[in-house]
Amino acid sequence: MSRKGNVIYCNNCGGRICTEEQKMKASFLTISKEWGYFSNRKDGTVHSMDICEACYDLLVESFAIPPVTEEITEYL
Ligand SMILES: [Zn+2]
Repeated sequence: MSRKGNVIYCNNCGGRICTEEQKMKASFLTISKEWGYFSNRKDGTVHSMDICEACYDLLVESFAIPPVTEEITEYL
């Protein structure tokens, strides 16, 4: 998680994504991972990060296997 005050920054490029108040209307990825006992020296820690949409697109392009994509029938 990269947040200063109420501003959310992209952990990858450091760019400003949006403010806390705007986050429901912004497109970005938030990952929060609780590492357990079977992890490699990260057990008992939580890693959180925010990734902007541009970095997400670059990240996904580098995948050997693309993410599963499904149509959302009901938007929130
Ligand atoms: Zn970024």
